[in-house]
Amino acid sequence: MPELPEVETIVRELNAAVTGRRIERVRVLRADALGEVPPGVFAQRLAGRAIAGIERRGKYLIFRLEPRRFLVAHLRMTGKFALSPALASPAPHHRVWFGLDDGALLVFQDARCFGTLRVVDSLADAVQLEGLGVEPLSRDFTAAWLARALGQSRAPLKSWLLHQGHIAGLGNIYAAEILFAARLSPRRPANSLNAHEVQRLLRATRRVLRLAIRKNGTTISDFARVDSKRGEFQHLLKVYGRADEACAVCRTPIARIVQAQRSTFYCPQCQC
Ligand SMILES: [Zn+2]
Repeated sequence: MPELPEVETIVRELNAAVTGRRIERVRVLRADALGEVPPGVFAQRLAGRAIAGIERRGKYLIFRLEPRRFLVAHLRMTGKFALSPALASPAPHHRVWFGLDDGALLVFQDARCFGTLRVVDSLADAVQLEGLGVEPLSRDFTAAWLARALGQSRAPLKSWLLHQGHIAGLGNIYAAEILFAARLSPRRPANSLNAHEVQRLLRATRRVLRLAIRKNGTTISDFARVDSKRGEFQHLLKVYGRADEACAVCRTPIARIVQAQRSTFYCPQCQC
């Protein structure tokens, strides 16, 4: 599933490619992503609007449209946006075509159909965005905030990091990598961290996410950028997916455990 760095990469690429374009027509090929909204209504609410810019909130993409309206997208497991020249017929997994005024097609594809597309007149109406926690690359993400938020929970750190209401945008890959970088065990109760450890977690979160964005995210199975290139952070993963391989720091075999039905990878020696 794309996490913050992958969504940020897509947002930057989409901004470069489609900001300023107008959506001329919308063709819904398969309506799973639209929820209860009839395809005709979805299409009609978008057609004729210009794309003023695209932003990210957590793992959501927010297309700002003019006249004022918003398309809020979540890629879930396999959703993708791709740009293509005008096509005669849909390819497999194409779900929605957005025909742009320069003749290009912005294609929403989704093999497994868990992705969502919602149109709202105001972001206050976007229930999806309600309850999202702090943006970890924003100024709101401070040691004081983090210490207070961690102090309210006894959940294991790994599970705490995955909760979108705490820090928005982290998933299984970056939670594992951040905890390795912070030298903190994924099993530690959130409220057990001292001030130094809170600082380490804060810095590791920022450092890992910034580097991953610079590397255009992680491509393991599905994530592809708008231009179908792959991310490069998978080559820098220290623990994720590396069970039984030697830790890069201490050579101890990386452990894999299951927490809340998700795999957690960590170094039992370096992380305590
Ligand atoms: Zn180690």
